Amino acid sequence: MTKKVYIETMGCQMNKSDTERMLGMLSHFNYEETKIQEDADLLMVNTCSIRQLSEDKAFSQLGVWGKWKKDNKPDLKIGICGCVAQQKARKVFSRAPYVDFVLGTHKIYSLPDVIRRINAGERVCECEETNLATANEKGYPINRVKSTNAWINITEGCNNFCTYCIVPYTRGRERSRLPEVIIKEVKDALADGFKEITLLGQNVDSYGKDFKDKNYRLAQLLRDINAIEGNFRIRFVTSYPTDITDELIETARDLDKVCEYFHIPMQSGSSRVLKAMNRRYDRETYAKIVEKVRKMIPDVTITSDFIAGFPGETEEEFVETLTAIDEFELDYSNVAAYSPREKTVAAKWTDKFIPEDIKDERFQRLNLKVQENCLKSNLKYVGREMEVLVENFYEHKGKMINTGKTRNFKTVHIPCDKDLTGQFINVKISGAKTWYLKGKIL
Ligand code: SF4
Repeated sequence: MTKKVYIETMGCQMNKSDTERMLGMLSHFNYEETKIQEDADLLMVNTCSIRQLSEDKAFSQLGVWGKWKKDNKPDLKIGICGCVAQQKARKVFSRAPYVDFVLGTHKIYSLPDVIRRINAGERVCECEETNLATANEKGYPINRVKSTNAWINITEGCNNFCTYCIVPYTRGRERSRLPEVIIKEVKDALADGFKEITLLGQNVDSYGKDFKDKNYRLAQLLRDINAIEGNFRIRFVTSYPTDITDELIETARDLDKVCEYFHIPMQSGSSRVLKAMNRRYDRETYAKIVEKVRKMIPDVTITSDFIAGFPGETEEEFVETLTAIDEFELDYSNVAAYSPREKTVAAKWTDKFIPEDIKDERFQRLNLKVQENCLKSNLKYVGREMEVLVENFYEHKGKMINTGKTRNFKTVHIPCDKDLTGQFINVKISGAKTWYLKGKIL
């Protein structure tokens, strides 16, 4: 008999990708996805631990489900997976005693076995670390969310240990998935109609560094994927600044399917703060990398990430972040206020914590700076002809709109009554707003 599963996914694209994998595995074992929590026989929360708020949200969601189970659904099964599960492991059971299983990020391929065991009445915690990204992959299907873009992770974990970041503790050391496994996934996604492949990892530029038996890095993977027949695009995120090699930039420039887009987190514009963050570059080094990418790849979009209010950050150092966004003409940046995370080095520097009101105020100023630069960047493209891959079709104020992305990751809104989702179309950019461009079909 088919059972129903609901998965609440929090956090980053990596978690979304894991959810697609877990749903694929479960479909193989007669579980069908439902979007309605109340209909589910199995409820799971795929958690994020990047900030305290997401962790609290996950436990509050579990609390609601636990009450359902206690009040009138004794057969309901409840599971927690993702980064909080990996980090807390068995401790979850004391905080949320109604949880049937805890599944860490290293063990998602154990899910079918975990389900078998909880259905037999066992309470399960599977959170041991593993060194191999592909060791336990068993070729289950992947239930990708229907869209134009397939996200395919190529590395797991990270070795960088930035002092604010919990990822090395929750996702473990960096492991590269085997090229043949990735290439098969790309081919499957293309056969399913996906038009854009985004290769995903905490630090994709160090892909392959851990292979002992071959010299196979991201540039080679891009070449092999580019050689697959068909009309599609390739992107890769996230790039650690100092791991971007000349070979990678040249390869990205020369391959026709690889898009003009680099996501290069800087995190702070101050060299002193970068050192405290244990980032392996200073402001000048970052500047050189961005300059090189811009020189070698015309019209490239460079996006970044920044943290406001890192412990000990002075007003002057914060202003260096604002000036960095201007100076390096960063097209868009994700910003966050610093949030201390258990186990990380910076979380112990409580005497250097920035008061909440100052942190919030810096966060607001950082947001305004990002908006200002985003508009500046978008205005450059007015009057230009660009290729758009249409991703959505919807009604807005009585008009039908197609929206999609240019090769260089600009969102374009195109008024048109026909649904063009999944098509590559050429448009002339007729206007620019802060978050998007307006286009007319040519
Ligand atoms: S590079 Fe730093 S910020 Fe990025 S995942 Fe690794 S430790 Fe975290």
